Amino acid sequence: PAPEAAAPAHEWLDAHSRRFGLYINGTWTEVANERLFDSINPANRSVLAQVTQASSDEVNAAVAAAKAAFPAWSQTSGHVRARYLYALARQIQKHSRRFAVLETLDNGKPIRETRDIDIPLVARHFYYHAGWAQLQESDLAGYEPLGVVGQIIPWNFPLLMLAWKIAPALAMGNTVVLKPAEWTSLTALAFAEICHEIGLPKGVVNIVTGDGKVGEQIVKHPDIAKIAFTGSTEVGKIIRSATAGSGKKLSLELGGKSPFIVFDNADLDSVVEGVVDAIWFNQGQVCCAGSRLLVQENIADKLIGKLRTRMEQLRIGDPLDKAIDIGAIVAPAQLQKIEQLVAEGENEGSIKWQPSWACPTDGYFYPPTLFTNVAPASTLAQVEIFGPVLVTMTFRTPDEAIAIANNTRFGLAASIWSEDINVALHAAARVKAGVVWINSTNLFDAAAGFGGYRESGYGREGGKEGLYEYLKKSEVKKLK
Ligand code: NAD
Repeated sequence: PAPEAAAPAHEWLDAHSRRFGLYINGTWTEVANERLFDSINPANRSVLAQVTQASSDEVNAAVAAAKAAFPAWSQTSGHVRARYLYALARQIQKHSRRFAVLETLDNGKPIRETRDIDIPLVARHFYYHAGWAQLQESDLAGYEPLGVVGQIIPWNFPLLMLAWKIAPALAMGNTVVLKPAEWTSLTALAFAEICHEIGLPKGVVNIVTGDGKVGEQIVKHPDIAKIAFTGSTEVGKIIRSATAGSGKKLSLELGGKSPFIVFDNADLDSVVEGVVDAIWFNQGQVCCAGSRLLVQENIADKLIGKLRTRMEQLRIGDPLDKAIDIGAIVAPAQLQKIEQLVAEGENEGSIKWQPSWACPTDGYFYPPTLFTNVAPASTLAQVEIFGPVLVTMTFRTPDEAIAIANNTRFGLAASIWSEDINVALHAAARVKAGVVWINSTNLFDAAAGFGGYRESGYGREGGKEGLYEYLKKSEVKKLK
């Protein structure tokens, strides 16, 4: 792609001298050189900018700012809060190219995805929750906001996860301290800037960057009323025990190993495109990725043949290239994790299929991968790989399909493919997953609640249900 394709992001980074402090109480903190760390473009290993590891004093200052802002913000009428949320949505749209390119540079995901999926969904989330802010006094009477909310997010959809967290929290009258993932902080910092531009009252949104230690401090802070976390099941468990007995409200959106079930009467050409969206979208770094393909035995060879052909056609490379299907893996540590799990799968006796083309070597790339001959109890079938790796198992009957689908510690999502709606609905009712798609996959909307069963977490984000995560029953007694 022409170099100017990246200009909207590079100009913005240059305007900040590529060194970022934290956004606390409506201002940027002084940059402390000794606490800067690099934010890398995983497609070419270049340093995009330097970001701050927040100190303990800075986290305390962020929480204090959010606490001081809470009384006024929570008492601001819903109509007025809605105006701020609409303004944020419009500002995201106005700067959508900057956000899309910045996200692609920082995360490695294809520009086609950030431009057409991530950023439009971010704006949609703010518009949707602006609507709820206006309805709060009428439709959510009897509830009140919680106070200061600590929000900790992962790197796979950086700005979208921020929107999932911040939009409902603000709409319902809470104030926020948010920590982005250390590999992908840049769009959260660009978001802080638009909070400033629209005149959001100081302290309502505070962005603190840094690693898990900063997250730990947020989790333990006594002035925080709720923790909203999206990330790995392992860290989710740590947070759950760290908050036990604290009285903090908690919502956890964790990992998955979601089944993608194909019955023999499915439209196989649609299934093939569905698989591309399920596991090769965002390099498979999707919590609800359809990472376990369960296919009815009598059509398995035919479907695998079609998938291998399709895999060969996928284009990998510079994520800024609009023709690219697969970008870079977010960081070397994540690439190593994928390589290790794939090697383990081969040791377990599963058969690995990859395209004949080679990956670019200038960044952290991994090819689309398909495993056959996978045992349901194997590591490959049980562990979340969080990469572009699909594992295939076969079944004979619907009962067997459901038994394999539910043989997991997770329960985030499921995708079911059949041209017979009764077969699909019957399976949908029995699969243990928070989200079930029929003849489709990885579809999201702000109005649809999202969340998991079992070790995929608890609590819901999105929809009316998601609002209650940021509310408690009002303690104000009605006057008789
Ligand atoms: P991670 O758990 O390693 O990190 C997530 C966030 O937690 C980061 O900001 C990190 O700095 C912070 N953190 C790390 N240790 C912490 C601690 N002890 N206390 C507090 N915060 C801490 O996850 P990741 O690698 O960034 O993201 C990938 C995982 O996220 C996958 O398992 C994926 O399935 C999951 N995920 C889930 C959803 C969902 O909605 N269910 C969405 C996206 C990603």
